[in-house]
Amino acid sequence: MTLTSTLGYPRVGPHRELKAALETYWRDGEEAPLLDTARSLRRASWRLQKEHGIGHIPSNDFTLYDHVLDTICMTGAVPERFGAGAEIDLATYFAMARGAQDGTRDVAAMEMTKWFDTNYHYIVPEFSPVTSFRLAFTKAVDEFTEAKALGVHTRPVLVGPFSFLKLGKATVAGFDPLDLMGRLLPVYEDVLKRLAEAGADWVQIDEPCLVLELGSGDLAKCRAAYSALSAAVPSLKLMVATYFGALPEASFETAMALPVAGIHLDMVRGRSQYEAALSALPRDKLLSLGLVDGRNIWRTDMEAALTLAERAVLTLGPKRVMISAACSLLHVPFSLAGEKSLDPELKSWLAFAEEKLGELAVLARGVKEGRAEISSELAENAALFEARRNSPRIHNPAVRARVRDIDPHADRRGRPFADRQAIQQKRFGLPKLPTTTIGSFPQTSDVRKARASRRRGDWTEAQYDAFMKAEIEKTIRLQERIGLDVLVHGEPERTDMVEYFGEKLEGFAFTSLGWVQSYGSRCVKPPIIFGDVSRPEPMTVEWSRYAQSLTAKPVKGMLTGPVTILQWSFVRDDQPRSETCRQIALAIRDEVYDLEAAGLGMIQIDEPALREGLPLHRSEWDAYLRWACECFRLSVCVVRDETQIHTHMCYSEFNDIIEAIADLDADVISIETSRSRMELLDAFVDFSYPNDIGPGVYDIHSPRVPARSEMLSLLRLAADRLPSERIWVNPDCGLKTRGWPETEAALIEMVEAARELRNTIGA
Ligand code: GLN
Ligand code: ZN
Repeated sequence: MTLTSTLGYPRVGPHRELKAALETYWRDGEEAPLLDTARSLRRASWRLQKEHGIGHIPSNDFTLYDHVLDTICMTGAVPERFGAGAEIDLATYFAMARGAQDGTRDVAAMEMTKWFDTNYHYIVPEFSPVTSFRLAFTKAVDEFTEAKALGVHTRPVLVGPFSFLKLGKATVAGFDPLDLMGRLLPVYEDVLKRLAEAGADWVQIDEPCLVLELGSGDLAKCRAAYSALSAAVPSLKLMVATYFGALPEASFETAMALPVAGIHLDMVRGRSQYEAALSALPRDKLLSLGLVDGRNIWRTDMEAALTLAERAVLTLGPKRVMISAACSLLHVPFSLAGEKSLDPELKSWLAFAEEKLGELAVLARGVKEGRAEISSELAENAALFEARRNSPRIHNPAVRARVRDIDPHADRRGRPFADRQAIQQKRFGLPKLPTTTIGSFPQTSDVRKARASRRRGDWTEAQYDAFMKAEIEKTIRLQERIGLDVLVHGEPERTDMVEYFGEKLEGFAFTSLGWVQSYGSRCVKPPIIFGDVSRPEPMTVEWSRYAQSLTAKPVKGMLTGPVTILQWSFVRDDQPRSETCRQIALAIRDEVYDLEAAGLGMIQIDEPALREGLPLHRSEWDAYLRWACECFRLSVCVVRDETQIHTHMCYSEFNDIIEAIADLDADVISIETSRSRMELLDAFVDFSYPNDIGPGVYDIHSPRVPARSEMLSLLRLAADRLPSERIWVNPDCGLKTRGWPETEAALIEMVEAARELRNTIGA
């Protein structure tokens, strides 16, 4: 019989219950309510999957913060500064995630980085030659047992040992974390044994790193690891799950030959590997076909998916095929059920996690009972696809013509940077090491309430305007008091940097509850780009103009860049992403043009997602970078030379894309560098990056107020490497998640640190 499975389910709850519970816990430190919420979220998703007849329901896919952090805890790989060796209590767990500053400790958080090319972030494990492992956290076993007690037999999920080590960072130069495999495996063996004792038959081991390009040495270590694991627990069936793309040939061969019971392949992004998989699958293995997209929200083309499933069943036999979502559903929202205000036609084209469970069930039925049994579902699905293709709501001929007529050579600023810099310096007269922030200021509950009141219609536009203006004025005055050189309006009107723009652009739709986890308690509600994009009217001009009217200091207009808007949205799948991105770029360009006309001398275009858009396979990088950079330039090239263009990127490594970054030709780039202690700057130094750089001097993800000396030492590291006239001083990122007191305190110290350095270098 052909079973269905999911590799993981959304964790934060249909109404972001986990977020609320975490925030309460972080405020009052009471564990019980948090753990209760977590338990009820797990129960609800197990029950739902069971109701949909999912054959292999995951457990241990849930987490209080991050599944890689859970794995760090499971293996006892807790960095020394958090008190390694001790029991990993909740306080320690969250200290690793967020840093901690209280009576007992003052430690910075662990590094966080993007999970492959998604907008999910994981905590980066730290490895060195002295890292030791021990089973320190039995969550995988506990959650299996918890589900079992509820009558749900689950397939526990573990981050595989190979990917766990690959995803970590060596804290000693030149050290290869994979050398720790021998020490790590006993912990996995122990966990697997305990799972088997607890009654598990299948265990899913995620090895997404297998989709990356790997050397033969790495692959040999992967093979050796699985030989050891499967020998240690022969009674357990291991399903090695890969996702987010096709496997490069050598990895594919390795995966197929692993001594495990099943292999999962992503047949949405890695469809090209379907034929090879059918013919290469060894007789003793089961193939889990990831047919339902776990990364996007469009309905599955059932005819196409069924055809793939049927042929697999014909070739391999029904027992050797499993029908799955392509990757964990953690990257899509919970359910369409709560979406009352979505346009019904658009809604009919969509499937969120719950609807995807339904699709899996239909596919399984089609395979088991024959396509005649699901003929009405197939017909309905085909009709929806047809309607979407022809719908006038997605086609705007004027937008298409504008994109078609872009002159591919007209995306450059008037003069080269060196000339612009002189002109801009004359205009703004900034000191050396100018201080600024990245855009947002604390979004207190008052601010959120104001937006909600307007949305609900409880407030008139005039009331809302007055509130926002007061907020902007407060923010401007604060920045003046602190002595920052370049100000921002603070973004109080923005729920989210992409949602805000999407709501004002044509071609975008919004959900009310379409939350997706970004990291820990942070969720985003990605817009849905369903049609051609245009900007009917200015989106930010009034707020920025108002902010600038309050002060003689320069205020930066603040926009989200086209690549980031694309990357953090659910994007239409009926045309190339580059085409959609060009449409967005032209819409942003209209706004840039209007901001300049309204008197904003500096405009920042945030592109924090530029790097995460990189394809997982290097061979596709150039093509992506070419159109992504072109889109950025398209959106800013209309300004005069005296207008200063800033950009901002966070959580990026720059080494391998530095040429493209330079090619953006932004006058100033601010980046996140404090957690890595300015390591990220190396790329800029080695490349002799010519334009201005603002390396972040403090981590904004933690409420901890950094000492002035800390920031000063980071700034010195920067000044040792870069000419001081190129350096700006700013936090790592926006301050919206912070509170006012710590923000003010930290910025005062930051400005003082800049002043001290100016004095010592005689600037
Ligand atoms: N301007 C945005 C802010 O400050 C940038 C956010 C980001 O880079 N993610 O909030
Ligand atoms: Zn940022």
